[in-house]
Amino acid sequence: MTEFKSRKLEALQAVKGMNDILPAESTRWEWFEDKVRALMARYGYLNVRTPMVEPTALFVRGLGEVTDIVEKEMYSFEDSMNGDKLTLRPEATAGIVRAMVEHNALYNGPLRVWSNVSLFRHERPQKGRYRQFHQIDVEALGFAGPDVDAEQILMCRALLRDLGLGDNDVWLELNSLGEPAERMAHRAALIAHFEAHGDVLDDDAKRRLHSNPLRILDTKNPAMRSMVDAAPKLMDFLGEASLAHLNAVRTVLDAAGLAYRINPRLVRGMDYYNLTVFEWITDKLGSQGTVCGGGRYDGLFEQLGGKPTPAVGWGMGIERMLLLLEAVGAAVPAVAPNVFAIVTGADSLTTAMVTCETLRGAGLSVQMHGASATGWGSIKSQFKRADASGARFALIFGADELARGEVALKSLRDAGAAQRSLPLAQAAVWAADLRNA
Ligand code: ATP
Ligand code: MG
Repeated sequence: MTEFKSRKLEALQAVKGMNDILPAESTRWEWFEDKVRALMARYGYLNVRTPMVEPTALFVRGLGEVTDIVEKEMYSFEDSMNGDKLTLRPEATAGIVRAMVEHNALYNGPLRVWSNVSLFRHERPQKGRYRQFHQIDVEALGFAGPDVDAEQILMCRALLRDLGLGDNDVWLELNSLGEPAERMAHRAALIAHFEAHGDVLDDDAKRRLHSNPLRILDTKNPAMRSMVDAAPKLMDFLGEASLAHLNAVRTVLDAAGLAYRINPRLVRGMDYYNLTVFEWITDKLGSQGTVCGGGRYDGLFEQLGGKPTPAVGWGMGIERMLLLLEAVGAAVPAVAPNVFAIVTGADSLTTAMVTCETLRGAGLSVQMHGASATGWGSIKSQFKRADASGARFALIFGADELARGEVALKSLRDAGAAQRSLPLAQAAVWAADLRNA
């Protein structure tokens, strides 16, 4: 043992691209999550939680083999105990659909669900792009109508507004991917276009030319941009039913006063989408400008062995949303206790602790320095701590007051307000006054 003790051990670090969220930052996270929870309640969406690890086959079958995620971004490994092929979930929808099929959870009719998930993708870490990140994921399962697509888009707008974001901060882009037959016709035209411009195709594009040409439209390579912009548009291959679906979504959005851009190049990163696809985009985060993306995925349940079940959903990146909120200077309320308890010595500690319990029982948030072992320090230094805590009031548990069965109350906001004495025996009563103050 001694030989280990004598040398200082090296400190370990988090995995690259995976972030710690420390208290200085978590306040913002909780504020955001509270807004989300309230939104879900207003729209009648119920919370679901599925495992972070799933069989690799779920994502290969669900997302499509020729996608960025499945080809190069998944954290996949073999269970060393039994050799099972497993993957840290790179997205939320496939796992939720798997769970619904496995538990026959839609036996009673359609379901609206949401989840707050950690996701894992082996990407190049940069601002707004991490290897572990978080999403609010929302799914309406068993609904075929365009009204639900519109509901989900309006729900995003409601959340963005609740967070204090304006129409200039983030906007909606919309497209339709049609149905499989329409995509096949478009695909043939697309391959012909790409073949005619073989000289500009990068390696990824060449590889995908025949396996998944639509994916080429999702390229982030600037050198291919103008060639991709000139490619045949899926919109021109849509039949009557697909166009009617899109128009029905647009009618609701228009009536609700939600402006959007039709973006014929919007294809999303997974193969499971059909008909409506959308993204919420900002120009405040550089190249990581998509904060939310979603769409309809009517074929995914069958793809994963379930009954045909139309569905639509979206995912919002929490890190990117928080960066956006910071960029626009959104006001995040600070978290502070109602009361800071100042204890002047060991004699008053027990009474102070018992009184604080009563106050907390009455719903107050109470903080104490907690230095019984190291000494309480001067009253002045304790007042400094009280101020730093952001508390509205200080309660001073001094020996003289305690001897009279009282505690002193001082306002930390209003320096002119006189100090008052409050009866310890009535703590539950005046706690209510402090809470409402
Ligand atoms: P991008 O095109 O930026 O890679 P994506 O299309 O891969 O995004 P989705 O899979 O649709 O993204 O996920 C929805 C949202 O999740 C994105 O709009 C973004 O806010 C967030 N997101 C995706 N990948 C990351 C990541 N690596 N780090 C942080 N947030 C991410
Ligand atoms: Mg991506």
